[in-house]
Amino acid sequence: MKKKLIAGNWKMNGSIEANDALVRAVMAGLAGADCIAAVCVPAPYLSQLQVLRHGSALELGAQDVSAHEQGAYTGEVSAGMLKEFGVRYAIVGHSERRQYHGETDALVAEKARAALAHGITPIVCVGETLAEREADRTEEVVKRQLAAVIHVNGHCISEIVVAYEPVWAIGTGKTATPEQAQQVHAVLRSQLHAATPHSERVHILYGGSMNAGNAASLLAQPDIDGGLIGGASLKAPDFLQIIAAAGFSNA
Ligand code: PEP
Repeated sequence: MKKKLIAGNWKMNGSIEANDALVRAVMAGLAGADCIAAVCVPAPYLSQLQVLRHGSALELGAQDVSAHEQGAYTGEVSAGMLKEFGVRYAIVGHSERRQYHGETDALVAEKARAALAHGITPIVCVGETLAEREADRTEEVVKRQLAAVIHVNGHCISEIVVAYEPVWAIGTGKTATPEQAQQVHAVLRSQLHAATPHSERVHILYGGSMNAGNAASLLAQPDIDGGLIGGASLKAPDFLQIIAAAGFSNA
């Protein structure tokens, strides 16, 4: 069975001092953890967190990546630049970027392509809004979002990570029930299965108010291969409890 993957998304939080304390505390508690762990940090802190590169028990991730290689794209950070800082994962298509920065399915697919071209694993976020769920459109929406990424990256689709993040559950304290999440994960798994004979290799993470209290029941679902953790990744004890739950559900 593949190891679960627990990735923290710090979002736009942190400071040099706070990052140092958080990473030290997480690293100190990681000994013996039976899962893959990573933190996706704001780009300016990648250089501070070089201790997490190359073989660290806690791997380094970014929260976004440009679809472009280089040039006149003010404010953007390329996959090549991230690679120079030992970045192993890059979140693409987070709902906050889709919502506040107008990112389309096509752009998200190009961002995933750029990451893959530089050996960075894109964590491709998909998820429905509350209105879409209430209109019974969840399956249609997540399939459309993933289909765009498969369309552009079909040849190496088994190299991506998918994160199912219902928008209504992000940062709200409302979590999908394990059954609701598993239902969507099974849909995503079968979509990947149709695209690659290696679909079982792909980690499908759940994200949306996952915390120390609900992690174990979510991670026990057959198609939930880990978590993308926002708020709870900023508190070392909570993040470590989720990591411990991932190891336990792996046993
Ligand atoms: C996220 O931002 O990806 C996320 C899942 O946030 P939270 O855990 O805070 O809901």
